[in-house]
Amino acid sequence: MHTPTTQARPCIYYTYEVFKPWLASANPKQDRKKVVVVGSGPAGMVTALELARHGVASVVLSAELQFSQGSRAICFTRRSMEILQQVGVADRITEGGLPWRFGNSYYRGQRVFRMEAPHDADDRFFPIINVQQQFMEEYLHDACQANPLIEFRWGNKVNQVDQKDGYVVLEVDTPEGPYALESDWVVAADGGRSGIRTAMNLQMEGASYEGFFVIADIRIDLPLPTERLAYFDPDWNPGNTILMHREPHGIWRVDYQLPEGETPEQALRPESLKTRINAQLAMIGHAGTPWEMDWSSVYSARTLTLPDFVHGSVIFTGDAAHLLPIFGVRGANTAFQDAQSLGWHLALVAKGLAGKTLLSNHSAERVGAAREIVTESGKSTRFMTPPAKDFACCAMRCSHSHSPRPSCAPCTTGAPRGHMNTRTPCSTTRATTTACSRPGLPTVRRRKTCAWAPMTSCWTTWVAALTCCTSPMHPPFPRRCKPSSMPHGKTACL
Ligand SMILES: Cc1cc2nc3c(=O)[nH]c(=O)nc-3n(C[C@H](O)[C@H](O)[C@H](O)COP(=O)(O)OP(=O)(O)OC[C@H]3O[C@@H](n4cnc5c(N)ncnc54)[C@H](O)[C@@H]3O)c2cc1C
Repeated sequence: MHTPTTQARPCIYYTYEVFKPWLASANPKQDRKKVVVVGSGPAGMVTALELARHGVASVVLSAELQFSQGSRAICFTRRSMEILQQVGVADRITEGGLPWRFGNSYYRGQRVFRMEAPHDADDRFFPIINVQQQFMEEYLHDACQANPLIEFRWGNKVNQVDQKDGYVVLEVDTPEGPYALESDWVVAADGGRSGIRTAMNLQMEGASYEGFFVIADIRIDLPLPTERLAYFDPDWNPGNTILMHREPHGIWRVDYQLPEGETPEQALRPESLKTRINAQLAMIGHAGTPWEMDWSSVYSARTLTLPDFVHGSVIFTGDAAHLLPIFGVRGANTAFQDAQSLGWHLALVAKGLAGKTLLSNHSAERVGAAREIVTESGKSTRFMTPPAKDFACCAMRCSHSHSPRPSCAPCTTGAPRGHMNTRTPCSTTRATTTACSRPGLPTVRRRKTCAWAPMTSCWTTWVAALTCCTSPMHPPFPRRCKPSSMPHGKTACL
């Protein structure tokens, strides 16, 4: 028997509603459905709304009784807003969100880079808008509730998926026990730890990285604009990185990398959080400003994707299909694009207007996108977790075949500190050198990391390169970057 928690999640700026579970005993006998969407995160709900937009009914199953814990995704791109506008929630996000388009990168206290994302009066949406994921989910849920083609079932957890000839039988567990649900199509939007993906024994390709980041949301009144702040190698966290983002409702996200060897348990101790947040506030000139903790968590970066999203009558989407590091804010933003593509492809097939092979088109399109993002966000990850000095030199040398500076250690390991590629110890940064090619390399598309030289300082150029390469608004480095202007704090991405 599935017993989701009925205790409202704690949060200082959002009141969680606990919904009633859907129970089979209180409903008529179940006919076979056209589409069942497993999961009510951003991917699942936007897929259901897109299907409805194309006239296809669906049932959305959610294991929990409330929206997700903590702010999670907070930065949504212009493209996401266009998709969200199509499903009717963009206005609510615009009302409560904080739009922004500037980012600042600091190296040892000195600003080395300012990003400016293009925006003009004709743009309907800002390049990025910040809204906490609970609000986003609430808006999507309200849109689903208002749509007669979508049936929402809280507290319904899928335990088993049995593929038959042309349909699927799901075993769905509820607070009164399991029931069987048949569907022509199942959309697996059950998140990064997808039980369906595990049950179907599907392997993802790509890399996982060692090393941890703490994410802490605090309520604090800081007289700062909504701009992304990145600090590299600051005094209080030498060799590591800190990110800060302003969120609605007086919340700031402080996101910092942990020193090597520190465990998540150690990092999440209240004393540790307090000391580090105070150190960060002191560094930016706001020592002593009172603050209150809302939510903290630890994460590590992964760049993984399924090589095919369609498996029989089960289609994977969102985090269930790919896992992307949160630098570059790709997870939910990519999930919306998956949902937009899946909506019309699956609708045409479900309505009998196209053959099943149309879904191969969807899979090829979105796996291609995921692979590209995996490559780019792998690069972001290596920029975001500042590599050891010798790695920076090594990577540059491997990329450009320039002679290492006298201070550079020999190019031996190539792995940034704290990084581990699960399939290969050599990361894609060095994919241009044959020395790093080994059997079992992840099948991601590779390109040269960058194309500029000479360098004045490995560290400085590495940091200066960061913002271009981690921004979802910018094409891959170096197409639009002018590194020569970066160390002087000029806008380098045009
Ligand atoms: C700290 C943090 C910060 C982030 N910041 C950003 C950001 O700024 N921008 C961005 O784009 N992304 C960001 N992300 C990523 C983003 O949160 C995820 O990519 C996004 O939530 C994925 O959506 P999803 O719908 O695929 O999965 P999820 O949101 O994980 O939803 C999965 C759903 O499936 C349900 N479920 C699971 N198993 C079952 C089952 N067996 N039966 C029924 N239901 C089930 C769950 O209850 C849940 O409703 C961040 C993530 C984290 C952790």
